[in-house]
Formats: sequence, structure tokens, C-alpha cells
Amino acid sequence: GSTIGILGGGQLGRMIAVAAAQLGYRTHIYAPESSGPAADVSPRWTQGAYEDAEALAAFADSVDVVTYEFENIDPSAVEVLATHGLVRPGAQALRVAQDRLAEKRFVCDLGGLTAPFAPVESLDDLEEALDRIGSRAILKTNRMGYDGKGQARLSDPGDAVGAWNAIGRQSAILEGFVTFAQEFSVILVRGADGQIRFWDSAANVHTDGILDTSTVPAGPLIEGQLAGARALAAKVADALDYVGVLTLEFFASADGPVFNEMAPRVHNSGHWTIEGALTSQFENHVRAICGLPLGDTGLAAAKVEMRNLIGEQANDWLQILSDPANHLHLYGKHEARPGRKMGHVTRLTL
Ligand code: ATP
Ligand code: MG
Ligand code: MG
Repeated sequence: GSTIGILGGGQLGRMIAVAAAQLGYRTHIYAPESSGPAADVSPRWTQGAYEDAEALAAFADSVDVVTYEFENIDPSAVEVLATHGLVRPGAQALRVAQDRLAEKRFVCDLGGLTAPFAPVESLDDLEEALDRIGSRAILKTNRMGYDGKGQARLSDPGDAVGAWNAIGRQSAILEGFVTFAQEFSVILVRGADGQIRFWDSAANVHTDGILDTSTVPAGPLIEGQLAGARALAAKVADALDYVGVLTLEFFASADGPVFNEMAPRVHNSGHWTIEGALTSQFENHVRAICGLPLGDTGLAAAKVEMRNLIGEQANDWLQILSDPANHLHLYGKHEARPGRKMGHVTRLTL
């Protein structure tokens, strides 16, 4: 059998590994940690730094295809991987999606609508950008941010110094604050032959910058903006010659879908597809990167709701199971730190 290499050993790696095993593949995780949620289900694990070119090359040589659940690795490391084997999605997708400025410019060039934005390399830049964009804004680090980390919200020009310090005085982007009614994500899979399939879009609700719930159907407002959002997502996927699952996050605004960010991978807002779609995002990601035909992305229920279990919310797992309609997923993390994604629960209504 063939082996799939996965960069990153968190819950996304775990769920990819489960889907891979079901299709008869072995998985080999490469991650800086010695263990993680994916360790329980992946037969092989290499502990190594993403900066260690030699170790990455050996890893790439030992597997048939490399994919990732974590996109924040240095572009030079990606080059190393790409010269030692097949990386799917490819290096360009990683390079664009790991840098907020690059991804916004990329999407704008393809005709997508984004919040007004400006690059920020200094406090002076920030003050200039606030003048231009307006002081109701969000300052985000260009790289490495997730779950709302590395962000500072501003509402007054006097917030500049505090915000610049709060994000650690590093390469950043200032975004104007978008007024929106709802948020949604477009998740697609693109096969090695270029065929694209979309899952239904979920309405996503964030609490404190962290995804809380994803619900399908998303409702009329979002459904009215899907054609435009999907057309943009397909353009992005084609332009990157993308293979695998790709996620774009949008705000449903009065001006139409506003692109927020993309993830070159399976996504938390697609966890509902494990039970709620005919083929899950994880299975189709594996099929795509292995060059197999894609499975049907249609709905398996009339309504699907996914709720994240953050920190201590996971302590209620037995209570959750007492409702037979609930599907419980726990990621095997030992410490329920505040803000940490411990698991999720999915509920289908037929
Ligand atoms: P993720 O965990 O999704 O990767 P992240 O840390 O990359 O999150 P973003 O998606 O950029 O962060 O922002 C988190 C949330 O903050 C968004 O889902 C949205 O609710 C809000 N937000 C971000 N940017 C803006 C904006 N320009 N205007 C209004 N709200 C925003
Ligand atoms: Mg993000
Ligand atoms: Mg986001």
C-alpha cells in the first residue's frame, strides 16, 4: 500500500489519517511535537522542526505524497519538500495562503471583493493606514494567526500604539472592519484532473474569534451569495492548480460576499461533512491527493449542525452522548486549556 505524509499532527491530521486508513493508505506524520491528536491513528510519526531541511527531505522521500494540516511552514521548507516528492496542494498554494497580505492581493487580482486593507511594517505605517481606511479596523499579523490569535481590534486612532504592541510589532495587515450579517465558508475539492466539487456552505458563528457553530442549510441570505463566492473559489483553485480540499471564508455583506481568508486544507467549518455529507472533506481530500475519483459531496440530511467543544465544554461529553442524535468527536487532548479545541459534536436532522 501507499503512504501519505502529513505535515502537522493535530486534530485535522487525525481526521485525515482516519479517512486515509479507511481507503487503505498508511499515514506518516511530520510535526515539531513528539505526539499529538494524530498519533493515536497514524502508524508513523517523525518529530522534526519545519526548518530542518534535511529531516523534511528524508520525510518526503519516505512517503508517496505529502499533504498538510498546517500551512505555516517556511517557503524554503516547501521548496525542499517539492524537490523530494509530490506535495499536494502545491507550494504556490501554501505560499499564498500562509500570508494574509499575499492572499488578499491574490484574491483581489482575481476580481474578488475584500475589506479595504494596507500592509503595516511600522507604527508610522499603521497610523497612515488608519487615516486612509478609518479607525474601525482590525490589525492582524501577516503570518501564523489562527482562532483570532495575533489580532487587535481598533475603534479609535488612539488605539494604534496599543494594537501595534499587542500583536508584537511584526509584519501585519490592517483591515477595515466589515459590517456583515452572517459568515460562511466555501469548501471545495479539486481533483488531480481539475474537476471541482463543492459542499453545501455552512453558516459559521464565531465566539471570541473562535468558530463556535457551523449550520447547514445556511439560509437564504448566504445562499443568495453562493454563486459569486463559489465562482471566486473556483478561480482561486484553478489559478493555483490546486489539488485537494480548499476553504475560503466569506462575510455575507450588503455588497455581496466579502472574502476574509483562505485555508489550503480541510477546515473546521467542514467537520459537519463527516456525517452530514455523502463524502466527507477528509475522504475527498485523500481521494484528490492520491489521484482517485472524487466522492459525491451532496447532503446526507435535511439539516446538519456542528458545534465545537472548546476548553471545558468537552467535559460534558457524557451528557452530549445521552442524546442519541449527537455524534461526538473527541481529539484525545489531555489538557482542556481555555480556547483550545477539544472536540466537536454533530447533529443531523433527517
Ligand atoms: P481562523 O481560526 O478562522 O483561521 P483567524 O485567526 O485566521 O481565524 P480571521 O478569520 O481573520 O482569524 O478572523 C476571525 C474572525 O474575526 C472572523 O471570522 C470574523 O468574525 C472576525 N473578523 C475578521 N476580520 C474581520 C473584518 N475585517 N471585519 C469584521 N470582522 C472580522
Ligand atoms: Mg485563519
Ligand atoms: Mg478565519
